[in-house]
Amino acid sequence: MKIPFNKPFLTGSEIFYINQSLQSGKLSGNYHFANKVKSWINSKYGLEGIYLTPSCTAALEMGALLVDLQPGDEVIMPSYTFTSTANSVLIFGAKPVFCDIHSKDMNIDVQKIESLITSKTKMIIPIDYAGVPCDIDEIMLIAEKYGITVMQDCAQSYGALYKGEISGKRAHLSCYSFHDTKNLTCGEGGALIVNEEFRRERASYLMEKGTDRTKMLKGLQKKYSWIDKGSSYLLSDILAAMLLSQLENEEYIISNRLHLMKTYYNWFNDFKFRDRLNTCKVDSIKKPNGHSFWLLLPTNNLRDKFIQKMKASGVTVHIGYIPLHSSKMGRKLGYQGSDLQLTEELAGRIARMPIFTEMSDTEINYTIEKAEAVLSELLD
Ligand SMILES: *Cc1c(COP(=O)(O)O)cnc(C)c1O
Repeated sequence: MKIPFNKPFLTGSEIFYINQSLQSGKLSGNYHFANKVKSWINSKYGLEGIYLTPSCTAALEMGALLVDLQPGDEVIMPSYTFTSTANSVLIFGAKPVFCDIHSKDMNIDVQKIESLITSKTKMIIPIDYAGVPCDIDEIMLIAEKYGITVMQDCAQSYGALYKGEISGKRAHLSCYSFHDTKNLTCGEGGALIVNEEFRRERASYLMEKGTDRTKMLKGLQKKYSWIDKGSSYLLSDILAAMLLSQLENEEYIISNRLHLMKTYYNWFNDFKFRDRLNTCKVDSIKKPNGHSFWLLLPTNNLRDKFIQKMKASGVTVHIGYIPLHSSKMGRKLGYQGSDLQLTEELAGRIARMPIFTEMSDTEINYTIEKAEAVLSELLD
């Protein structure tokens, strides 16, 4: 049996909505399906200030533009993240300041943030690794104390909850991804959430090439013109149509994935060698969205052997991020591997197990059976 790491889920109604979009004659951004998507998210989670973007990367960039990030500004973020978190500030000349993560969930270690704050710190960008919300309330407290903006990179956590609210609701800004590696997808897509009302009007200019076209679309004025800086951060209506079909099935997608997570956890808790492994510990105030299940092996060498042996059994297991601070670009920015030793160590030990919405019982049982056999051999 071959078990892929991920398989994008299709609801079946994508083509129906895409066809409607094609027939509508309006294919660009902020039309019919974009509005439907925004209403869906608003009525389900109470989010307002939703801007649909071509990717989470674009949403992060738009957020950085919105707070007028300048050369010389510093932005605190985990080193254990995707390149886009750092690139979104680097392209404005700002400096990513990398913070260590915590082994409980691989998210930014809140205790280590404050010592990195300087007079130049403009933003903090925590991420929700594996769809598990970061400690956002604690981060917001620190940010408010110093007058810093928090943009939460929720690329992996659409639908995850923190104290009963969707993750991304409590930060000043937050970003979701609908890339085909995430739980819900339209191929490539994302959203910027602007939780502070006073920033929303300007956000609509920035996404529409610096114009007030949104006001014209709402019928508030006849013409639109250039009034601010900006770029094109719009998701095409064709992709918004696909996204709507996915959102209408989000309960199914998330509950399936949570069922798979539970199957992994049940196995893990009973596993003979569990004391030599670790996995994510989730506080009771958080409800993940089942994005990813990972294990920490005792060493880098055992992790690599585990992945290799699983591959030989037909199961694709992945490593996580290569820490940004010790990557080629991180070193160019002046960092060294030894700067964040815990991040370096944890990134070397993590293995991410296959999980996808329509993974069958047979597939997950096979995966677990192989993992148990390989790990028993490696850890004995
Ligand atoms: C996937 C991901 C991104 C990038 O999302 P895109 O939609 O592909 O641009 C950014 N940050 C994190 C943490 C991610 O997991």
